[in-house]
Amino acid sequence: MQRYSGFGLFKHSLSHHENWQRMWRTPTPKKVYDVVIVGGGGHGLATAYYLAKEHGITNVAVVEKGWLGGGNTARNTTIVRSNYLWDESAHLYEHAMKLWEGLSQDLNYNVMFSQRGVYNLCHTLQDIRDSERRVSANRLNGVDGELLNAKQVADEIPYLDCSKNTRYPVMGATVQRRGGVARHDAVAWGFARAADALGVDLIQQTEVIGFRKENGVCIGVETNKGFIGAKRVGVVTAGNSGHMAKLAGFRLPIESHPLQALVSEPIKPIIDSVIMSNAVHGYISQSDKGDLVIGAGIDGYNGYGQRGSYPVIEHTVQAIVEMFPVLSRVRMNRQWGGIVDTTPDACPIISKTPVPNMFFNCGWGTGGFKATPGSGNVFAASLAKGEMHPLAAPFSIDRFHNGALIDEHGAAAVATGEIPMLHIFCPHCGELRSEEEFHASGQAHIPRPLDPNACTDEQWGDYMFFRDNPRGLHHELWDHVAGCRQYFNVTRDTVTYEILETYKIGQKPQFTDKADSPKAAAQALGEKV
Ligand SMILES: Cc1cc2nc3c(=O)[nH]c(=O)nc-3n(C[C@H](O)[C@H](O)[C@H](O)COP(=O)(O)OP(=O)(O)OC[C@H]3O[C@@H](n4cnc5c(N)ncnc54)[C@H](O)[C@@H]3O)c2cc1C
Repeated sequence: MQRYSGFGLFKHSLSHHENWQRMWRTPTPKKVYDVVIVGGGGHGLATAYYLAKEHGITNVAVVEKGWLGGGNTARNTTIVRSNYLWDESAHLYEHAMKLWEGLSQDLNYNVMFSQRGVYNLCHTLQDIRDSERRVSANRLNGVDGELLNAKQVADEIPYLDCSKNTRYPVMGATVQRRGGVARHDAVAWGFARAADALGVDLIQQTEVIGFRKENGVCIGVETNKGFIGAKRVGVVTAGNSGHMAKLAGFRLPIESHPLQALVSEPIKPIIDSVIMSNAVHGYISQSDKGDLVIGAGIDGYNGYGQRGSYPVIEHTVQAIVEMFPVLSRVRMNRQWGGIVDTTPDACPIISKTPVPNMFFNCGWGTGGFKATPGSGNVFAASLAKGEMHPLAAPFSIDRFHNGALIDEHGAAAVATGEIPMLHIFCPHCGELRSEEEFHASGQAHIPRPLDPNACTDEQWGDYMFFRDNPRGLHHELWDHVAGCRQYFNVTRDTVTYEILETYKIGQKPQFTDKADSPKAAAQALGEKV
């Protein structure tokens, strides 16, 4: 690998910067690898890098259906922090934070990690109590954190409206001063370049369309360009993980939702930290180019469109302008969405699966960028040894059956912004109404077990946490909250967002996709729906 340095920069300037090496090769896939990673986002690339660097396993391929880092890694608002509430998460995210602190040197690539501090605003007394608890828990875990009162916040963030008569009064904030931002593309490219230099094959424009098994054991991946054999397979496909699990023959407690962000025109430096308000689902920082980088909440219903709904953005911009009136005349330049993989406890899944030799690393939802080096590091160790790394072990899929959940909804930032986007025909009112009148309530036709006490842990866990997450037809329960206040069902395509029908509870859908119909076993247990 050509090393980057000040001297190198000078040397290349003499040849007009025309002789730089490509950052990675474009290899022809081998027949078989020790490890195949599916998904060339930050987490997949970091996994490959640490497999090679720390475990000497270099016969590794990363198979990516698009281009490296083209998924959520390059779509996120790049906030990095480690101040999570529960021990399991705090340890994992702090492990990542320590790796961030030396990452540019380690990769010989400037990932532009800037520890400018991350503030989480408190708007209610309950926010203050929760924050006090979180800061105390963080300190017990060796994670830095401070709780500021309203005056301190006003002093440190003078452009924030901290006056009394605001819609979202500022009562205080937590701050993690070691938190900050990093340049997302650079993170993907830095890991890719360093992994390639250690011998990892980065195979782009190749989609995994199935998994080959022999006697139930995974022996490789089927791609749109042919079969690639593997002794172990690690799947790191974020919003597509539910679909990948379905291809492998099992279900994950994951639902895919669009999450949006937007950037403004470049303006003079004004925001020198990261400011988040979980209550209003808005967070903001300023990039080195001067753009304001603003993040929103997620759409309240499943979707695979890499865009988001307009009302979510409208709500976020409204909240940002309320909190920062000084920004009210700034024009927004671009807006986009990514598909995030949400779990019932807002924590990732880093786990073995029911298929031997196949491991999954997913469920990072709205907050996985900050974990990228840590996630790759512990996943690599797990793939290398065939046993989960101690920091990854609590994040097993089993927790949704044995009840050992790690509920990070409070600390995981923007968990669920539930603002809708369609035009929906209410079968009770008999009218087509704007979706802002409705509330999405998840998958429809879920049979409640007739006798919960007779359920096994697996049956109860399936009922509570496992939902269909299809790329295609989905039957959903909606509530006409601002209308007749009655529930009804919707059949919607999660890729095109087309609503095929709405129908009353108790009726059967006209449009069905057998593969995604509710689990037969659950149906046998439950009520008729
Ligand atoms: C708008 C937005 C804002 C966010 N803000 C933050 C933030 O501020 N801080 C934070 O910590 N996190 C944030 N996140 C979350 C964060 O971006 C993700 O958790 C993280 O980037 C996930 O990384 P990944 O490598 O697992 O996934 P990705 O980067 O999505 O990579 C997965 C890859 O898998 C590939 N893939 C999928 N299916 C297949 C297949 N069949 N075959 C081959 N390849 C496949 C995809 O093309 C993709 O490149 C945000 C996300 C979004 C969308």
